[in-house]
Amino acid sequence: MSTPKINTPNGKPFKFGAFRVKQHAIGLLNMLYTSNELAEAFETDRRVILERWIGAGLPYTKDDHGRYWFSGREVEAWVKVVSARSEKRHVPEGTIWCNKCKKHVKPNDTRTGEKRRLTYLRATCPQCGRPIARVTGSKGAAW
Ligand SMILES: [Zn+2]
Repeated sequence: MSTPKINTPNGKPFKFGAFRVKQHAIGLLNMLYTSNELAEAFETDRRVILERWIGAGLPYTKDDHGRYWFSGREVEAWVKVVSARSEKRHVPEGTIWCNKCKKHVKPNDTRTGEKRRLTYLRATCPQCGRPIARVTGSKGAAW
């Protein structure tokens, strides 16, 4: 599978692009976001947040007008927990997902790289020869 899945309380599988979402979470500010602003920050649809993410435990508050508010810090903490959980369950140790081969492969030529505040493990897929990578950590105040 291409993205890790976790089960939501209503039993539907929840696809979570942990890799991409994590990078966005690092950029959240310590403020309240509307669902539209949060959707924009994660480059996703507002309905994904309201229907799927909340169903998967995203913390929120609702005001008297029925509007949803999301705390940047709380969202960040939630993303961290959900990402860690889905990675632990789905990524076998020492492997990297290859988008071309659609599976986890064990590369022989790993090297570390750095971009923005994230550290990466880079390698070449031993099966198709394409460059592959996974996030191994992050540094900075947010985490
Ligand atoms: Zn491959």
